Amino acid sequence: MDYVEIKDLVVFAHHGVFQQEKELGQKFVVSARLYLDTEAAVTEDDVNSSVHYGEAALEMTKFLQAESYNLIEAAAGRLAEHLLLTYSLLRKVQIRLAKPWAPVGLPLNEVAIELCRSWQPAVVALGSNMGDRKAHIETALKALDENQAIRRLASSTLMETPPYGVTDQADFLNAAVLIETMLSPHALLTFLQKVETSSGRVRTRHWGPRTLDLDLIYYSDLILHSEDLTLPHPEMQKRDFVLKPICEIAPNYVDPRYGLPVSELLARLVK
Ligand code: ATP
Ligand code: CA
Ligand code: CA
Repeated sequence: MDYVEIKDLVVFAHHGVFQQEKELGQKFVVSARLYLDTEAAVTEDDVNSSVHYGEAALEMTKFLQAESYNLIEAAAGRLAEHLLLTYSLLRKVQIRLAKPWAPVGLPLNEVAIELCRSWQPAVVALGSNMGDRKAHIETALKALDENQAIRRLASSTLMETPPYGVTDQADFLNAAVLIETMLSPHALLTFLQKVETSSGRVRTRHWGPRTLDLDLIYYSDLILHSEDLTLPHPEMQKRDFVLKPICEIAPNYVDPRYGLPVSELLARLVK
């Protein structure tokens, strides 16, 4: 992807673990790669179709001077997030933040952190079969919308479905949303679990009744097996109550395990 680059911008700021760094300040050197689609800027030759590098450099300076972080990791990470939120054209931001005069008492050239943040597509499945099911799902959608690090791109209709696995319980309302997020997969899962908890969900029996269930179905094209997160969701291809809502909003989303679009997974399930 194309990028606008701002290289070696010098900013006097107050980041550091030591009190003297917070009080006296020092010079930081920051570079940014701002990834975006430049097609419109090339065709139209208009600064509004791109990110104005002068404004971005000023924004970076102001951001780094507004707060005092202990770690350059924190300063760089939050700067990357701030830029992604400020300039809607940006898809990805890479930051390099160096501290050439770090007070470590050794003759080093600089210490630096380099990191990347980007908007990634993801699919979340929602389900409820306790209490006011529709209200629980709507509250979850609202919670997604209130998180700046998540943008809801498309939402399915609500579908009434019979319970799966454990069948002696009430029917479910199910839905799915396509989002883009700058949260990591684990941070997104943690956020979804917080929303479940605030809906009053208590985990009693596995696959039992719940006010709200938020499953992370896909995160970009990631395949992951970690202790608390499996991606794609390992059961989704067997569940029409997950596949049908996704087919409404993103039938062409390709499952990275099979190399097949979701519409095809549903067709194979129904056969
Ligand atoms: P299922 O996952 O089969 O739909 P469930 O939704 O009833 O069952 P939960 O009790 O909500 O299961 O979740 C159990 C655990 O699954 C969670 O603690 C979470 O860490 C883990 N988990 C692993 N992968 C995922 C994923 N892709 N989305 C949501 N939770 C996941
Ligand atoms: Ca589930
Ligand atoms: Ca779940």
